[in-house]
Amino acid sequence: MADAGNGPEPAHERAATAIGARGQHAVPGEAGVEPGQADRATEGAGRPEGDAAVAPAFDLHHPPEQQLIDDCVHCGFCLPTCPTYLLWGEEMDSPRGRIYLMEIGLQGEAMNDEMVRHFDQCLGCMACVTSCPSGVQYDKLIEATRQQVERRYPRSRRDRAFRALIFRLFPYPRRLRLLRGPLRLYQRSRLGVLLRRAGLLGRLPERVGAMERLLPTVGRAEPLPEVTPAAGQRRRRVGMLSGCVQRVFFSEVNAATARVLAADGCEVVAPASQGCCGALSLHAGREAEAQAFARDAIAAFEAAGVDEVVVNAAGCGSAMKDYGHLLRDDPDWADRAKAFSARVRDLSELLAELGPVAERRPLPLTVAWHDACHLAHAQGVRAQPREVLGAVPGLELREVGEGEICCGSAGVYNLVEPEPARELGDRKATNVLATGADLLVTSNPGCLMQIRAAVERRGERLPVAHVAEVLDASVRGADPGSLLRDGRAQSMSLAGRRRLRSTTKVNESQPPGPPPRS
Ligand code: SF4
Ligand code: SF4
Repeated sequence: MADAGNGPEPAHERAATAIGARGQHAVPGEAGVEPGQADRATEGAGRPEGDAAVAPAFDLHHPPEQQLIDDCVHCGFCLPTCPTYLLWGEEMDSPRGRIYLMEIGLQGEAMNDEMVRHFDQCLGCMACVTSCPSGVQYDKLIEATRQQVERRYPRSRRDRAFRALIFRLFPYPRRLRLLRGPLRLYQRSRLGVLLRRAGLLGRLPERVGAMERLLPTVGRAEPLPEVTPAAGQRRRRVGMLSGCVQRVFFSEVNAATARVLAADGCEVVAPASQGCCGALSLHAGREAEAQAFARDAIAAFEAAGVDEVVVNAAGCGSAMKDYGHLLRDDPDWADRAKAFSARVRDLSELLAELGPVAERRPLPLTVAWHDACHLAHAQGVRAQPREVLGAVPGLELREVGEGEICCGSAGVYNLVEPEPARELGDRKATNVLATGADLLVTSNPGCLMQIRAAVERRGERLPVAHVAEVLDASVRGADPGSLLRDGRAQSMSLAGRRRLRSTTKVNESQPPGPPPRS
C-alpha cells in the first residue's frame, strides 16, 4: 500500500481513487454510501459476531495452496475492481489482504472472528481473477478457505441457525414449492406494503428484512416438459438444468430457454430426476453437500444421453464447470466429473456456438446488459450474450458503468451480508438507471432480484428480464411491451413508457406473432 504523502501515488491507488474507492470518500451520496458508513460496515454491522479462535487456522484437508498464494506479487492491480475494497478502502477487505490472511493462516495463525469476517465479506465475484495480471487463482484460494471456515469455525448460534434455514430450504425445489402459495397470497394482498408503511418491516432483524425485500414476485408457474423436440432438423440433443430457485420462482425463464433452444434446432431434455446443482453450497464452502449434489446432477444428465448441458443461471454454470475440481479426490467420480464439466455451456455460449436458425424478429428496445459476475469473471463469458442479443433487429444494447463491479447478489451473500450487499445494489442501480435503457437484461436470477430491489428502493421502476426471455420474445415475434410489462416490475419506467408508445407504432406494421405472455 502507498504511504500517503510520500511520493507519487501508485497506479492502482490512483485507479482506486478514480472509481470511488478509499473508505469514506467512496461513492457520492446518490450511490448510497454516506460518509462514515464505510468504517461501520467494516465492523460487520448487523452481522452476528462470535469470539471463538481455532488454531491453526487450517487443517490438512485442502488448505489454500501455498503455491497459489505465492503467485500474488502484491501489485494491487486487483484492488479497484474488488467491491469490498471499493466500499471500505480496507486492505484486509481486498483480494491482496485476504490472500495475506490465508498466508498467515497457513503459518499457524488462529482463525478468529475477524479473519472469518474478512473471508465472509468477500462476495466471491472473481473480479480480482479477471483483473490480476499475474494470473492468481483467487477462485481456488477462496473456495479452499471457505471450506476450512465452514468445517472448522464455530459460528455463533444465530449465524448457524440462519445459514441452516437457507441451506435446508433453497436447494430443495419441493420445499420451496410449499412457499409459493403463501408468498403469492402475501404479495397479492399487499400485506407487505401495509407492514412497510406501518414501519413494522423495518423492525425485522437485518437478514430477515433482506429476505423479505428480495422476494421474487410469484407469478403463474410455467411447466417445463421433460423433452422439448427441436423445431425442424435436430442439431443437438442438450440437457437443461432447471435449477432449484429458478425452477420454482423463475419457471418462465426456464420455459423461454427451452423454446429458444428448440427454435434453434436443439432437442431439450430436462431430466425429472435432476435436483440442485450444488452451486449455493459450493460457493458457501459446504464441500460435502456440494459434492453430493454434483454426483446426483452428473448421474441425471449422463442417463439422459445429451451432447451438452445448458445452464441459464450464471452461478450454477460456474459451479458445474468446477465439478472436476470439486470431485478430484473421489476415484469413482473424478473422471466423470471432469468430462461432465467440459460439456457444460451457458445458454448464450451454446447459442453463439450454434448460430441462429430461427428468425429473430424486431424488438425496438434499449437494453442495459448486466454481466453477472459468475458469467463474466468466473466463466469468462462476455462476448456471447452481447452477440446473441445483438442479433435481434432493433435492439440497442447499452453498457452499464462499472460493469465489472458486483451488484451485491452473489449467491446468498445479499442474505447473509445484507448491508454491503445493499450498498453495492444501490451503486449498481445508479449505474443501470444512468443508461436510460427501457429494460435491464442479465443471465442470473439472483442479479435480477437484487437490482430490481435496489431500483425500487430509489422509488423507480425498471423492468428486468433474463436473456432467454428477450430472445424468446424475438423468436415468437412478441410485442416488445410484453417485456416491459414484466410481472416482476408491475409498472414501467418513464423511458419504458415513452419507448413503448413509439414501438407500438412500429409493431403495427409487423406480422402478428403468438399472444404475449401473461
Ligand atoms: S491478486 Fe494479482 S492483482 Fe491482486 S495484488 Fe496479487 S498479483 Fe496483484
Ligand atoms: S472475489 Fe470479489 S469481493 Fe472477493 S476479493 Fe475478489 S474481487 Fe474482492
